[in-house]
Amino acid sequence: DEWKDRGSAVVARKEADRDSSPTTRVVKKGVKDFNFGRTLGEGSYSTVLAATDRTTLKEYAIKVLDKRHIIKEKKVKYVNIEKDTLNILGDHPGIVRLYYTFQDERSLYFVLDLATGGELLGFLKRLSTFDEECTRFYGAQILDAVAYMHSRGVIHRDLKPENVLLDDKMHIKITDFGTAKILAPPKPPPGDGSDYYQGDPMGGIDDTRANSFVGTAEYVSPELLTEKAACKASDLWAFGCIVFQLLSGRPPFKAANEYQTFQKIVHLEYEFPKGFPPVARDLVERLLVLDPTKRFTIDYIKSHKFFEGIEWGRKLWQQKAPRLK
Ligand code: ATP
Repeated sequence: DEWKDRGSAVVARKEADRDSSPTTRVVKKGVKDFNFGRTLGEGSYSTVLAATDRTTLKEYAIKVLDKRHIIKEKKVKYVNIEKDTLNILGDHPGIVRLYYTFQDERSLYFVLDLATGGELLGFLKRLSTFDEECTRFYGAQILDAVAYMHSRGVIHRDLKPENVLLDDKMHIKITDFGTAKILAPPKPPPGDGSDYYQGDPMGGIDDTRANSFVGTAEYVSPELLTEKAACKASDLWAFGCIVFQLLSGRPPFKAANEYQTFQKIVHLEYEFPKGFPPVARDLVERLLVLDPTKRFTIDYIKSHKFFEGIEWGRKLWQQKAPRLK
């Protein structure tokens, strides 16, 4: 069976029978449980529709994937990665949550958080640039979500403003985990016998998919281009590109074609536009570092002066988003 459905969300309904001995029946959601509405967007292998749960009236985004098309294009692996990572990352306000998965003869269905605001890129294009306050807030939310995924052993590998969606509170929800990498769970320290988390001794280095380019040209890290290896720090390179882009309106490395973009990246060839805030410049310069082991780590980014005043963790998600201007 090509489409494993293990671990998918189910709805448990408690019922008492006549003898009042309680039984639990597990009822799986299906297409019939939703009213499908407007199209939110189309991907290469999917259509995303707004939908309402007929019972609870809660609104979702349902990603509908065409099974035949995915098999023909050999994308089964990516669909499974997306589902597996979303199941691992089930509970962070900054990551699109996967509630249910089901299928019919033709399609696979992923029931997701509805991000009514659409892509962060759309807002950036409309405003052309964000001011420092908005960049600080959205940068902080993105970083907090990335910190969470890294703590759960997931590297996104394709962070960019198109993959950052906004919900009805104008808070971010990171999406598109089809090219993510799930790191092997760390082994406990020898002789210890406990499952104490020691961190990943390889720093998340992954060379298992040599020669397969993942990601988007403008945000791809130099180590992926030169060593064919992505690690947690590769997401922080992309984060540096995003901070640069929010403040200046364009990504730091951009050329007429992919090859020229890659050349710029491996030679660290980029320039700050006039008027780029100096504190933000300092942060970006510590992120756009060719050697991933010398790049700023999440803890250093969080305590950098650019993020002064940010309350990390739960409070960041209770805060009112600054008005985009
Ligand atoms: P591709 O598969 O070609 O890389 P994609 O990753 O954008 O494209 P989808 O994930 O199917 O493809 O998304 C299609 C569109 O639907 C996107 O443009 C996105 O803006 C929108 N979309 C995706 N998920 C949601 C969501 N949870 N809420 C609102 N809109 C969404």
